Amino acid sequence: MQALAERLDAVVAGRELAGFDPLSFSSLKTVVPGPEAFVGHRVERVTRRAKYLIFEVGDVGRMLLHLSQAGRIDIEDPQKRTKPRGAVVRIRFADGVALLVREFGTERKAAWWMLAPGDDGPLAGLGPEPDSEEFAALVREGDDRRRIHTWLRDQHTVAGIGRGYSDDILWRAKLSPYATLASLDAAQREELLDAVHAVLADGLELERQRTGGLSENKLGEHFEVHGRWGSPCPRCGTTLERISYESHEVTYCPACQTGGKTLADRRRSRLLK
Ligand SMILES: [Zn+2]
Repeated sequence: MQALAERLDAVVAGRELAGFDPLSFSSLKTVVPGPEAFVGHRVERVTRRAKYLIFEVGDVGRMLLHLSQAGRIDIEDPQKRTKPRGAVVRIRFADGVALLVREFGTERKAAWWMLAPGDDGPLAGLGPEPDSEEFAALVREGDDRRRIHTWLRDQHTVAGIGRGYSDDILWRAKLSPYATLASLDAAQREELLDAVHAVLADGLELERQRTGGLSENKLGEHFEVHGRWGSPCPRCGTTLERISYESHEVTYCPACQTGGKTLADRRRSRLLK
């Protein structure tokens, strides 16, 4: 998402907004200020916080965009009038360029917000960024008793770590997906923190290298273990295992992370019945 924000900034910073075409029912999450209040003003820059893209429009406020699971952004030059499948909103600029936001997910939907200055909207209550001192202190001193995988994905704990990165972080730190922060010693906490920094830095590096523009928003196949259950662990060669949940799967290496143990899950328990 950071790399996408950087690419968007390069494309739209300085451009004057000419209009917003809402193309999907209920994807705009705010009523006041209306999008028309932003027309005629320039986007100063595009930044990111957690998984939100932030279009900063000076004194008028900010537009927030969340692409959810499978959203993407197309640049239209010149802008079109069509309404393709999955279209969410078209952001039109005065010089004829437009951004078309589309959504291919079924479960969760892309959404956007128009925020007045000082209104944090959905950004309120977000945890610190993973590279902040605040988060480092939390890892070193925290006593949370949820599974670390759950804790890392909680956007109130730390912003912007999803399922894929959580799998890779725990694998890199050699921690069980069932471990809790409270159960870690000082050395393990440092390994966890190092793993968070390293995995996110690698991810950003790969995203920056990716060509093909803004359409390629989907995170590619660059996870080290996430989604790769059944294939060999990149570190030790043991076959990676998974824990199945209703909505997602956690991948781990039984040799590197759980002392050789295979963790029980819903799928496995069902098979055993
Ligand atoms: Zn391994």
